[in-house]
Amino acid sequence: MDVVTLGESMVVFTPTSDGFMRNASQFTKKIGGAESNVAVGLARLGHKVGWISKLGNDEFGKAVLASLKGENVDISQVIFDSEAPTGIYFKEPRRQNSTRVYYYRKGSAASKLSPTDLNHDYLSKAKYLHITGITPALSESCKETVFEAIRLAKENGSTIVFDPNLRTKLWDEETARDTLLKMAKEADIVLPGIAEGEFLFGESDPHKLGQLFLAQGAKVVVLKMGAEGAYFSTEKESALIPGFPVKQVVDPVGAGDGFAAGFLSGLLDGLELGKAVERANAVGALVTMVNGDVDGLPERDEVEQLLNKNSEDVV
Ligand code: ATP
Repeated sequence: MDVVTLGESMVVFTPTSDGFMRNASQFTKKIGGAESNVAVGLARLGHKVGWISKLGNDEFGKAVLASLKGENVDISQVIFDSEAPTGIYFKEPRRQNSTRVYYYRKGSAASKLSPTDLNHDYLSKAKYLHITGITPALSESCKETVFEAIRLAKENGSTIVFDPNLRTKLWDEETARDTLLKMAKEADIVLPGIAEGEFLFGESDPHKLGQLFLAQGAKVVVLKMGAEGAYFSTEKESALIPGFPVKQVVDPVGAGDGFAAGFLSGLLDGLELGKAVERANAVGALVTMVNGDVDGLPERDEVEQLLNKNSEDVV
């Protein structure tokens, strides 16, 4: 596998009408989960990617599996659990840029993931292990699983890529900060947002934040800065790579996952860092133009098209 990722995916319901969700009578049904979004993004760009997780042996679990299988994500490591359900959540768009999220994931099948579920051989063959700060927030056994996956992947020379993906709804701030910092220390590449950097270090300057993450042990830090693009830092260089101007942002959620997929895709293709960040910016921008977390994830020709436009062209 080029990339292996690990985490929970759920079925997501969104009301088709505006207003409070209590009054809604129709919903759209989609699949969502940060890590599987990244997996779909990479698969659409032509890379070999596997997703490790647990699903309930129920209709929603089958929906998640079918969707990822249809996207060419390797699901050979997915385990069905007959004792626990697949997690679901609801998205209630209240007004522009303000969406409320209601999780029904406590005790879900994915939250029962444990280190013994990991296939050592499978992890050892991954060039990159992609992990996020969502998984350790799900349960103690999930936290142990993430750190065991890191250990196994590192033992075999895989590069660890970490997106903090802070979810304050899932855990208390102190435990979150402590765990995310521990994960950052284990990672080779860190992909935080500025707000996450601020949460972890009380600093919002991208250059200073880059240096702080590097001091923790990361070799590459790429700070996501929304429409502005992203700022990358290594020991030797750092630069802001501007984002692609988007005329109308339809749905910004999932841009960060698209960014991770674009960046890893660039690295897998042997691009230099600045160019990989540029590809990441392109994928992130394309995701914001379409409703849904994975619906906007582009195929390779769409990314090429955007990259070949003049930089000032608005898409
Ligand atoms: P998410 O909402 O998925 O968690 P995030 O907070 O991790 O996202 P953002 O900085 O919002 O990350 O977006 C990731 C990347 O997507 C940005 O670095 C940029 O490349 C691209 N992007 C996001 N918003 C825009 C925008 N409005 N215009 C152009 N590009 C954007």
